[in-house]
Amino acid sequence: TEIIEAIAGGKHLGIMGGTFDPIHYGHLVAAETARTVFGLDNVLFIPTGIPPHKNHCPVTDPNLRYEMVRLSIRDNSYFKVSRLEIERDGPTYTIDTLRTLKGLFPQQELYFITGSDVLEDILAWREPNEIIRLARIIGASRPGYDAGDSLKRIYDLYPEVKGRITELEIPALAISSTDIRIKVKNQRSIRYLLPEEVRLYIKNNHLYEKK
Ligand code: ATP
Ligand code: MG
Repeated sequence: TEIIEAIAGGKHLGIMGGTFDPIHYGHLVAAETARTVFGLDNVLFIPTGIPPHKNHCPVTDPNLRYEMVRLSIRDNSYFKVSRLEIERDGPTYTIDTLRTLKGLFPQQELYFITGSDVLEDILAWREPNEIIRLARIIGASRPGYDAGDSLKRIYDLYPEVKGRITELEIPALAISSTDIRIKVKNQRSIRYLLPEEVRLYIKNNHLYEKK
């Protein structure tokens, strides 16, 4: 409710969904660039509960992932973190989250911020056309992924959402959570890939050391 009040006054709401296992500078740069380029009043980070597309590999306890996001964003007053998906039972779907947010903030324009890898996947999600109708999509460039083809495929299938997806060039960071987890497991340094507080949190809680 505190978060709802803080966001309620805005007109343009960014939504940054992710597993954040762990959060890293790729996520933060994408969110901050989207915020400034699109004039977003807030960016709401929403860590997933049990991700429907990741149930083949176990993810870290949602409360720990939430805490790492909280530590990362507390010095940016435009960034907020939500427990919306963590507290929902069963697998969480983006369309449900967007419907909830639209219900809470009916006058706000929603912007769903993703990396270009997610644009490739979006057609496999539940009700992709409804997702794009409810929220504009910002596809942040991500090294190794090209969104061009996916855009065409999406618009061919759903001409009614044409123009609602915008590609956004951001400073390229070839950082991924997967790579960070592997580095920790192999006792390699993860310094400078994510906020220092998160690095220490991972260390103190012995996250990713074996799996
Ligand atoms: P994993 O390797 O576990 O999939 P990830 O690094 O891809 O982790 P996610 O939590 O899956 O992180 O991603 C959340 C969102 O952030 C997605 O939309 C993803 O495309 C985007 N994203 C992640 N890393 C980057 C990056 N380096 N540059 C741009 N966008 C990114
Ligand atoms: Mg990913």
